[in-house]
Amino acid sequence: MLRAVFDFAAHETTPAAPGELELIQRFMNLHEHRAGVRGDLPPSPELVKWFLVDRGLMDDGDPWTHADHKLALDLIEALHAKVRENYAEPAGSRDVAVIDRVTDAAGLTPRFGLAGPPRLEPKATGAAGGLGGIVAIAFLAQLDGRWGHLKNCAHETCRGVFFDHSKNHSGKWCSMQKCGNRAKAKAWRERHEARGRRA
Ligand SMILES: [Zn+2]
Repeated sequence: MLRAVFDFAAHETTPAAPGELELIQRFMNLHEHRAGVRGDLPPSPELVKWFLVDRGLMDDGDPWTHADHKLALDLIEALHAKVRENYAEPAGSRDVAVIDRVTDAAGLTPRFGLAGPPRLEPKATGAAGGLGGIVAIAFLAQLDGRWGHLKNCAHETCRGVFFDHSKNHSGKWCSMQKCGNRAKAKAWRERHEARGRRA
């Protein structure tokens, strides 16, 4: 479990989205690296469970099956599809079905009580409730317009999602530190090579 914590902490350079949307952003950006393998790998069962437990969405003692992990990965894909809707690219029926499945399994219920803002709460506990908690936050972010600020990183091999904090919606990279600098270095190389060819 410690290894997963370290991996997650060491590779997250994307500035946090505001409020609870930060949790969704981190969930969508969960990934792992393996020695000798290029690029990002999908998060392992241990990493996804650790994340949900760490964020208080389920208990460490709750079972976490292969099917739960598979559904979590499908949910990550479906949420990526919902981010692409921000670029007028409608989510496919498969992604919509995954979100509905998670919603139904969790028994998401509106709570409109006196204290605090309106919420959606899962009736289920465990893995079903944990994944439902993710959908609940995404749902409310769509309602109040925050979801519209989520973007996919413009770097071709990066799957990072970020919250565009810029005033004019011009943000391009999940992190200036990582993909912004990679893009700048690539542009510099290309200019350099073009000059070399002209010389
Ligand atoms: Zn990126």
